[in-house]
Amino acid sequence: MSLTRLALLGGEPVRRKPYPAHNTIGEEERAAVTSVLDSGLLSGFVAGGSEEFLGGPEVRRLEAAYCAKFRAKHAVAFNSATSALHACVAAAGIGPGDEVITSPYSMSASATCVLMQNAVPVFADVEERTFCLDPDSVVKLITPRTRAIVAVNLLGQPAELGALREIARRHALRLIEDNAQAPGATYRGRYTGTIGDMGVFSLNRHKTIQCGEGGIAVVDDSNLALRLQLLRNHGETVVESHGDPTLYGMIGWNYRMTELQAAVARAQVQKLDWLNAWRVRLAEHLTKRLRGCEYLEPPAVRAECSHVYYSYAMRIRSDLWGVPRDSVVKALVAEGIPVGRGYAKPLHLLPLFRRGRHVGGRGCGPACPAYQGNVDYREGLCPVAERLYRDEVLTTNICRYPAVEADVDDLVAAVEKVFANRDALRGWSEG
Ligand SMILES: *Cc1c(COP(=O)(O)O)cnc(C)c1O
Repeated sequence: MSLTRLALLGGEPVRRKPYPAHNTIGEEERAAVTSVLDSGLLSGFVAGGSEEFLGGPEVRRLEAAYCAKFRAKHAVAFNSATSALHACVAAAGIGPGDEVITSPYSMSASATCVLMQNAVPVFADVEERTFCLDPDSVVKLITPRTRAIVAVNLLGQPAELGALREIARRHALRLIEDNAQAPGATYRGRYTGTIGDMGVFSLNRHKTIQCGEGGIAVVDDSNLALRLQLLRNHGETVVESHGDPTLYGMIGWNYRMTELQAAVARAQVQKLDWLNAWRVRLAEHLTKRLRGCEYLEPPAVRAECSHVYYSYAMRIRSDLWGVPRDSVVKALVAEGIPVGRGYAKPLHLLPLFRRGRHVGGRGCGPACPAYQGNVDYREGLCPVAERLYRDEVLTTNICRYPAVEADVDDLVAAVEKVFANRDALRGWSEG
């Protein structure tokens, strides 16, 4: 079977059936939404000095559910993780001239949250096996201007949060966790998102649990929690009543979550554990099945941690294939297996950083007159992230509800078939 012709070259594909659609919205969410519609209160926020400054009953129940689930003192709901990340950077008091060290191998908001405050993102490289921030690379980039680290728990894997926390402590930096992709993952027995000073979860439609669009910041420090609440909802209108002049310069936005989103999100929180367990079961099955093929490295799991497999990322041993990663991906896709190449382009290579004149064309961020440093966004800056993206990583999202083991086995069959036919594939990619 494995020596039959590659589908890419006109052979029969391993799989013709599409993978089952991933839809976790059901009766629970429908009931939650109906009850909000019946109440007529689609958003509970008022930007004024009343209880409603903190949002409606559904938003507050959702925040309580996050506090209970993740054992955090405070949770603040936002209309996206992007706005929550921006609010965290602002709550940390970061502004023009400041540097924040972040990962280039992430979704763009892990860095644009810094630019939004007219501060400067500095990209450290990532670890070879986990794709998360490399603490050694972070340490080398600390300057007198560094104010914070944004650690990304990428694809469901915890970053090296213990070491990053220690670095942050030693240099008096804030540690912000971008935990959009790892809700429910643990680092040495603690939930990711709760190890840094602030942690951000996403509820956008692609994430493990979702309400269309939404984000949650969790935080133990009450002063940071207050700042997040003020930043979410035009805090400038109410700061006087707090009697704290350090809050007076704060500009709030409309980063509010609606009652509808909150109701859906709360129903989804109830499903998080079993949705994660489903992913972990299939991912572990796949890892076990791939153990035989040394030419495709399954994802590493950091010691004393749990991975929740937002995506299942493998690395290709190009030396054993003798064909570029992208050809392997094309061949697998032709076999009916949805795989993607590289995850996301390292952020320092985006035009925003390579050629951008941030903010209104005049160049704030790195070009701001308040900035005394000399940040670098050249190609080659983060060799590990660049190599992973360009040559090695391939990802798949098949390890999730409602797929089953047999669906995952098709990937293994396709990989074995393509590897057995690598000479034909080489001919194809060279010709
Ligand atoms: C999805 C995601 C975000 C942004 O989430 P939104 O809710 O869409 O704003 C930020 N960081 C990472 C790593 C993400 O995957």
